[in-house]
Amino acid sequence: MDTIREELITTDPIPLLNALGGVQAFVLRTDKIHPVVSGNKWFKLRYYLQTARKLNKKRIVTFGGAYSNHIVATAAVCKLYGFESIGIIRGEMPKQLSHTLVTAKQNGMKLYFISRQAYKIKEIPQSLLIDENYFIGEGGYGQLGAAGAATMLFELKSFDCVCCAVGTGTMLAGLMNAYEGGSVLGFSVLKNNYDAEKAVSLLLNDKKREVKINHQFHFGGYAKYNRQLINFMNELYTQTGIPTDFVYTAKLFYGVRSLINDGYFSGKKLLIIHSGGLQGNLSLQNGTLMF
Ligand SMILES: *Cc1c(COP(=O)(O)O)cnc(C)c1O
Repeated sequence: MDTIREELITTDPIPLLNALGGVQAFVLRTDKIHPVVSGNKWFKLRYYLQTARKLNKKRIVTFGGAYSNHIVATAAVCKLYGFESIGIIRGEMPKQLSHTLVTAKQNGMKLYFISRQAYKIKEIPQSLLIDENYFIGEGGYGQLGAAGAATMLFELKSFDCVCCAVGTGTMLAGLMNAYEGGSVLGFSVLKNNYDAEKAVSLLLNDKKREVKINHQFHFGGYAKYNRQLINFMNELYTQTGIPTDFVYTAKLFYGVRSLINDGYFSGKKLLIIHSGGLQGNLSLQNGTLMF
């Protein structure tokens, strides 16, 4: 498939593994839009690309780690839209490239590896500081990223609560802006990610609005997981046919299910955002997942 499917699918209510309390949980399948450019990354990138095109930029430059969904999505989307792309990657070049970086390269992305220290301050190699390059922040964080994420909720306003995973919080901010009257709850996939509320606030139209992020379901930190999470992913898939990724969406679904069982959402109609990221599962050992 070489185009992005803009028409989003919302599932029928799914049973969340014996969840209690008469909750109805629907899922917005943004993972279905494209096999590589999966999920929220396209939505976060769209207005950056539009701007780059308006400015006649030739090349997109962005940042990420070796397993970054943002890096691989940027590479694929640039290929589709006729931009060259460069990824500035955290850390030394490994002997063997991750699946993510291999796919990024196959989609034409040039990779620059920089030290972790240089990455921390987002130091840009001198040779890339040229006018034909357009820079996008790590994870697509920023006003344009949030504005793009807001377009996911187009026409979907009849829920009591929208639930999404949180990395940089760009998607959460976009959803909150799109859904000013409703409640949006984020689930952090990073440990002690307590700067996230602030980062989200900065992107809100209404800066005074309370940002709600649950910090309980990170499973030890970013990309950390255990047997319990893997079993949950397999069970969820068996019961609903929905595949999740272990970095973001599995933790989100697990968190939602736990809160449902605690009675937190009793009688409510929920929309869970499946934000994609399934390519990340390729870094798990073969046979871990049944999908
Ligand atoms: C990047 C990513 C997120 C996090 O999005 P933020 O806007 O950075 O919070 C959530 N889910 C998936 C699948 C992702 O790839």
